[in-house]
Amino acid sequence: NKKVVLRRHVTGFPSEEDMEIVVDTVELRVPAGLTAVLMKNLYLSCDPWMRGRMSKYAEGDVRPASEFVVGEALLNYGVGKVVDSTHPEFKAGDLVWGMSGWEEYSLITQPESLMKINHAELPLSYYTGILGMPGLTAYAGLMEVGRPKKGDFVFVSAASGAVGQLVGQLAKIAGCYVVGSAGSDEKVSLLKTKFGYDDAFNYKSEPDLGAALKRCLPDGIDIYFDNVGGETLDVALLHMRRGGRVVVCGMISQYNLEELYGVRNLFCIIPKAIRVEGFNVGGYFNMYARFEEEMAGYIKDGKVSVVEDVVEGMESAPAALVGLFSGKNVGKQLVVIARE
Ligand code: NDP
Repeated sequence: NKKVVLRRHVTGFPSEEDMEIVVDTVELRVPAGLTAVLMKNLYLSCDPWMRGRMSKYAEGDVRPASEFVVGEALLNYGVGKVVDSTHPEFKAGDLVWGMSGWEEYSLITQPESLMKINHAELPLSYYTGILGMPGLTAYAGLMEVGRPKKGDFVFVSAASGAVGQLVGQLAKIAGCYVVGSAGSDEKVSLLKTKFGYDDAFNYKSEPDLGAALKRCLPDGIDIYFDNVGGETLDVALLHMRRGGRVVVCGMISQYNLEELYGVRNLFCIIPKAIRVEGFNVGGYFNMYARFEEEMAGYIKDGKVSVVEDVVEGMESAPAALVGLFSGKNVGKQLVVIARE
């Protein structure tokens, strides 16, 4: 059973050396007396939230405490096939997605957390992205927290990534004017040509964010879908319109910092009556069934596009995860372990 384990807790920017590949043996059946599912992992998902679990933050740090154990496989949402089950709701051959290990086979002792894949006619890898946790994040964050109205001006950061690419497309479906920022010209071009963004800019080649926002959104922002936090959030606050909503989804610019950026422009939420609301996708899994059907329909009707960044093999997983923090990924980052 080949796996990616955490070698040491991480401080600062993560590196491939913080992880290592180890091989141990696993019995390909659920041990007697246990109600569990043995899952063969097909597609691993690389997600920014894993970074938080790689650290042992100092006491009093507002970021979540570490969950990954040194020497054990990393954990994240993934797509797999049931090999053996003693749980009445699962049988060998079922395709599922949910929390599992970065390893070839995972023993899932809480099978209730797994979700059956209802649209196996679509690429299974989509259940790491558009039909999985990031897709639900985009949908719940925009529709439930942002509550877009026709004609709203929407700004999305990290706009070409797993969450951002869907946020923009859903905002277009809702009748909004949508602008995205991303870290390369290739990504900016994808935003405009593939994801239907009305405008987009490269924040690395145009570091004056205020000028970029003024040019692309001269009348201001009704909804800022924030994936990066830090200075981007700070500047975006200045450009919000009265009654605007800031959907605080993620703060990837802060995940590797020892000291967090202090946002200075919070004051303007008072005179402009802005709602700033954070959310955690974990609170929205009760709407997953509805989301899955709606999204599968959009995909089949060609109403939404998907861009994935696919690498092959367990050995490629550490670099793929680390690459999220320098913007190496173009689209949803995932790792193929096996195709069936
Ligand atoms: P992406 O696929 O967008 O990958 C991460 C991207 O972030 C990179 O490609 C890069 O894009 C950008 N990035 C990396 N470092 C920085 C930095 N220092 N400053 C600005 N941008 C940076 O990831 P996801 O779509 O999976 O996640 C997007 C955000 O959503 C993350 O913050 C994540 O933590 C959050 N999230 C929140 C959830 C919730 O429940 N609230 C659930 C899931 C995700 P670029 O080249 O454009 O810079």
